Amino acid sequence: MLERLGERYDHPAWSGPRLDVVSELVLTILAQNTADVNSYRAFTALRQRYADWDAVLAAPTDELEDVIRPGGLAPTKSRRIQHVLAEVKAEHPDWDLSFLGIVPLDEARDWLTSLPGIGRKTASIVLLFCFGRPTMPVDTHIHRVALRLGLIPPKTPLDRAHDLLEEVLRPDEVYAFHVETIRHGRHTCRAPRPICGLCPLTDVCAYYVLVQRGKAPVAPVPRGYDPAAGSPRYHDELLHGWAAPEGQR
Ligand code: SF4
Repeated sequence: MLERLGERYDHPAWSGPRLDVVSELVLTILAQNTADVNSYRAFTALRQRYADWDAVLAAPTDELEDVIRPGGLAPTKSRRIQHVLAEVKAEHPDWDLSFLGIVPLDEARDWLTSLPGIGRKTASIVLLFCFGRPTMPVDTHIHRVALRLGLIPPKTPLDRAHDLLEEVLRPDEVYAFHVETIRHGRHTCRAPRPICGLCPLTDVCAYYVLVQRGKAPVAPVPRGYDPAAGSPRYHDELLHGWAAPEGQR
């Protein structure tokens, strides 16, 4: 499955952190319940406005709220960002969270989830994207695709899917699975109806068995779809080329 999705989605492989750890943490807060493009805009605005994390922490909350408004839910997220930064600063005044790449995985996850408003998914994103640590962030796309394929039992709640998927994947498969499955969920295995006519996994998919029996809905292949156009691109990939302005890391 990974090999087939990899062919479709450019064989993603972890090749080093895309952002420093505090930036990744703040970005994941901005990304909660919003589209990537909006969180990217809000994150860029925040980094352009403030010289460093101390300045974000010291900013009036309503000012920060205005700056990150493009990311949605600005009143909640501005407070959450400042609460998290305050906790980080209290324990690590130099903003250096590199210990998260060294301590045992459970310990790193527990430290992150002890921060206000940081759950298992956000903690896993930070550990996977900053350090390549094999912990699976499960979002709504991964949850849906895993259920349809039958990788996890029917009706498994999203929270439980993190552990189940980590059990069936080798550590070196976690990053590729995460990225490929999100892309597949956005592009092909969509909610509420998947475009199974574009999928390379029909022969291993539990949902597709139901489709063939006429017991599950599918969406038609979009008119004008060009299979030779290359793999789909996503806003999250913008971030891989993002670099903080000089002196702002
Ligand atoms: S066959 Fe259809 S339901 Fe199954 S993974 Fe592919 S797109 Fe999703």
